[in-house]
Amino acid sequence: MSRHFDAIIIGTGQAGPSLAARFAAAGMTVGVIERHKFGGTCVNTGCIPTKTLVASAYAAHVARRGAEYGFAVNGDVRVDMKRVKARKDEVSGRSNRGVEEWLRGVKNCTVIQGHARFQSSHTVVVNDEVLHADKIFINVGGRASVPAMPGIQDVPFLTNSSMMDVDFLPEHLVIVGGSYIGLEFGQMYHRFGSKVTIVEMGPRLIGREDEDVSEAVRQILGAEGIQIRLNAKCISLAKHDGLIAVGLGCDEGPPEVLGTHVLLAVGRIPNTHDLGLDRAGVATDQRGYIVVDEQLQTNVPGIWALRDFNGRGAFTHTSYSVHEIVADNLLNGDHRRVSDRIQTYALFTDPPLGRCGMTDAEIRKSGRGALVTKLPMSRVSRAVEKGETQGFIKISVDAETKHILGAAILGTGGDEVVHVLLDIMYAKAPYTVVQRAMHIHPTVAEFLPTVLSKLEPLA
Ligand SMILES: Cc1cc2nc3c(=O)[nH]c(=O)nc-3n(C[C@H](O)[C@H](O)[C@H](O)COP(=O)(O)OP(=O)(O)OC[C@H]3O[C@@H](n4cnc5c(N)ncnc54)[C@H](O)[C@@H]3O)c2cc1C
Repeated sequence: MSRHFDAIIIGTGQAGPSLAARFAAAGMTVGVIERHKFGGTCVNTGCIPTKTLVASAYAAHVARRGAEYGFAVNGDVRVDMKRVKARKDEVSGRSNRGVEEWLRGVKNCTVIQGHARFQSSHTVVVNDEVLHADKIFINVGGRASVPAMPGIQDVPFLTNSSMMDVDFLPEHLVIVGGSYIGLEFGQMYHRFGSKVTIVEMGPRLIGREDEDVSEAVRQILGAEGIQIRLNAKCISLAKHDGLIAVGLGCDEGPPEVLGTHVLLAVGRIPNTHDLGLDRAGVATDQRGYIVVDEQLQTNVPGIWALRDFNGRGAFTHTSYSVHEIVADNLLNGDHRRVSDRIQTYALFTDPPLGRCGMTDAEIRKSGRGALVTKLPMSRVSRAVEKGETQGFIKISVDAETKHILGAAILGTGGDEVVHVLLDIMYAKAPYTVVQRAMHIHPTVAEFLPTVLSKLEPLA
């Protein structure tokens, strides 16, 4: 059996479904293939469920601080993990069903469930059926990396996917990996009531950020009672009297920590190994990522890979935005490129970290003259009123053009407020536009003009 489509899309992550809808609306026939859960990582095991869990953890945290706000909670604040998980399942499930129902209802779009493998550059096989298309779009995303560390075969471990099934409170959760995913799970489970140890190989948490950001996040998490072990150069796993011993250091600090559960949060790898890419002749890099140009085209004409490739980790918004780039280029004759975008993302701890543009380290490396300003959140009226004064606002600007080069807003509302700066960057307007703007009182954003009036040369 064989079918022909104008376009085939493999995977229903953040780019595939919206691209399918755009193509179908333009009159193209589209075959969309999904092997597992509709909506991919973000919907089922990533952003949506984790941010729903973060919300439960935040509510518990605020309840424990009741006395500070002038209310009493009758007894200890205890988290019912079954109900926390049920809430998460409801929110995530609604989104998963929404993607599937939406796709199935799109005219000209055929949804096929199964694992897709290339047979040639224009054919894909799913459930023994051959599908043919002139244009094929790969949106297969990635999964948690499980490195071959000593003992990994001998102990049970969790990943972001299996964490979604946890409906109990781990007594002591040891998280291997002190980056974005590890920190979000760490703070969340500590607030649920687990003892949490975060183990990081590098000298600091979220090592891609500037040192002052890493250090502030470490202090915030440490002050909550989360154990953090940095420079854990010799990580290994072993069974130990019903517990899991996580080996840490070879030359400094306690050699191991004993936990009841281990979560691996040490990076992601692409789902490209079982796609038959060799049969289509599609090139990948050493890490298995499909090589694409600025417009997401692979080395094989007629095959695009909807992936993030700017070296700063994949996010839902970066994946969603590549569908816009591809659709506008193919349907509207546009010339959009991935590098037109400005890097932006958030760490959804409490307080969150909103980031846009370059870090200070990247600015220094670029060699351009820059000014920087940094003020603590304790000076932000809204943060004081909310009793959430941790963190700071840091903004860097080009000394010559006055354009904003980058910002880190670690503080309440930081994940939202950073968009004020991001949009000015997209507008290619000088920072003085924000500095002279009148913002609403009392908000975190109203402090940006004040921050920007204290620029000094970047050391
Ligand atoms: C714990 C966690 C938290 C996160 N939080 C955030 C956040 O807060 N904000 C944010 O922006 N990003 C977040 N991310 C990242 C975000 O989830 C991903 O960047 C995003 O989902 C990637 O989307 P994608 O479209 O590239 O692929 P995916 O969402 O991974 O989708 C790929 C789809 O392809 C399917 N597929 C794969 N191979 C085949 C095949 N051969 N045949 C058929 N189907 C196939 C898969 O089943 C999957 O459904 C988080 C990630 C994790 C793990």
